[in-house]
Amino acid sequence: MKLYNTLTKTVDPFITHTENRVEMYTCGPTVYHFAHIGNLRTYMMEDVLERYLTFEGNTVHRVMNITDVGHLTSDADTGEDKMLKGAKREKKTVMEIGAFYREAFFEDCKKLNIKTPEVVVPATACIDEFIAVIESLLEKGYAYHAGGNIYFDTSKVKEYYTLTSHAADDLKVGVRDDVSEDENKRNKCDFVLWFTKSKFDEQELKWDSPWGIGYPGWHIECSCISMKNQGGYLDIHCGGVDNIFPHHTNEIAQSEAYLGHAWCKHWFHVHHLNDETGKMSKSKGEFLTVSLLEKKGYDPLAYRYFCLESHYRKPLTFSYEGLDNATKAYNKLINRIASIIPEGEVDEAVVKKYRADMIRTVGNDLNTAMGITLLYNILKEKVSSNTKRAVIDLIDSVLALSLLDKADARRKEAEDAAKAKAEAVKADDSHAGDPEAAMVEAAIAERLAAKKAKDFARADAIRAELLAKGIILTDIPGGTKWERK
Ligand SMILES: [Zn+2]
Repeated sequence: MKLYNTLTKTVDPFITHTENRVEMYTCGPTVYHFAHIGNLRTYMMEDVLERYLTFEGNTVHRVMNITDVGHLTSDADTGEDKMLKGAKREKKTVMEIGAFYREAFFEDCKKLNIKTPEVVVPATACIDEFIAVIESLLEKGYAYHAGGNIYFDTSKVKEYYTLTSHAADDLKVGVRDDVSEDENKRNKCDFVLWFTKSKFDEQELKWDSPWGIGYPGWHIECSCISMKNQGGYLDIHCGGVDNIFPHHTNEIAQSEAYLGHAWCKHWFHVHHLNDETGKMSKSKGEFLTVSLLEKKGYDPLAYRYFCLESHYRKPLTFSYEGLDNATKAYNKLINRIASIIPEGEVDEAVVKKYRADMIRTVGNDLNTAMGITLLYNILKEKVSSNTKRAVIDLIDSVLALSLLDKADARRKEAEDAAKAKAEAVKADDSHAGDPEAAMVEAAIAERLAAKKAKDFARADAIRAELLAKGIILTDIPGGTKWERK
């Protein structure tokens, strides 16, 4: 496949270190609150990427961290500790907060058909590894001790600003929040690897280290968890665009300093989901979660469809109107698939052609909207139903919209209703010999179809027409009975 690479700023062929095997790392959630649907857009696009790489015949080994310690409200070592903030808010311990929101995160993912990565590692399970890497960075002269903390010295790496431009990032450092800059830092962009002296005396989770009791900085976590589980060569590292600086920039600096060679070739970043007021956040406006969408009657997979309609490298604006449109389109697609009765031979040549179309379109920088277009294309083709279903199955192995499952369930529902109705009519044999029975039963069937299509005006009109002829309808479980006035 070809994929935009934040490191080279071009759409590059995606080439792995070992053929047909992808070492993929995704920055996981900081589990101090529910994920909002903007965070989940990133995980969803990473999931589509993993599924696409699998579709192309690769074995994807995907690793994700869970941040349950050390992430401050600013990504640049300032502000409050997010986990502690969550614990205070809910009057629970940090471990309780972590366990609760970790589970909530994976529940949301499941509803959105986001697969759980093969390896999921909480930061608190890897403290020994963090310490070992920090010790090595100190030995090699890439880190220093100041004011009780251990810092990474960004002036020691050949090139620090690997992912973005120097000038733009310099401006961002030190202007975040209202917190004064850390005077222990030798260079503006240096970052904490290990805290011992911090303003968080109340920090619940602390570990012994060669530098005193303390806790790790946030950035070291991803580098260590990846290197431990994936070795020294990573094929692709993923996250949201707000991870590019400083988080991913720092990850590259410390990993390459530790390894002594280039670490990860390909960087994949998903753009923001905005609401109508700007970038979505947990603290302003409506807190948009998967459960809120469900409460409002939306299918989480309609939100997935909404996201797949646009490109991951463009900011997407969320609105209920947009979600309503996506819901309509998603339901229409399922209804069309439900109307295909499985039959006939699968034409493998057609499936092969669509496989090539997928590689040409979705494989070109993960163009998911083109994947949806291919679904509509196959529905229009003059091929057997089973060929259509095979192609839909193939495309949906990447898009993961549960299309065949939902369509089959809908068809079964309709068939069951029709069967129940036929039985109800059969049971209602009191009209044997009535010359108008056939006319009345046809009208009842038409009324049922109108109700199914939510055309209630038509359904009411049919009832009124029959009433004018002296025929009264009564809805009973599984059908409709009729009698003369
Ligand atoms: Zn990370």
